[in-house]
Amino acid sequence: MVVKVDEDTCIACGQCEEVCPVDGIKVNAVAVADESKCEDIGDCVEICPVDALSL
Ligand code: SF4
Repeated sequence: MVVKVDEDTCIACGQCEEVCPVDGIKVNAVAVADESKCEDIGDCVEICPVDALSL
């Protein structure tokens, strides 16, 4: 699995990128999950202030 990003909701705050322990998400215009790295840890889902992420 890989974390899903709701691109209409993401405000590109960067908190998910900062919290991810495996470098599995990058934020440019919106957050983009890296399927090859994501391990379904969920720290990004918890920290997102606008609930833009889900597993
Ligand atoms: S924490 Fe949420 S709002 Fe912030 S960049 Fe990540 S997905 Fe977007």
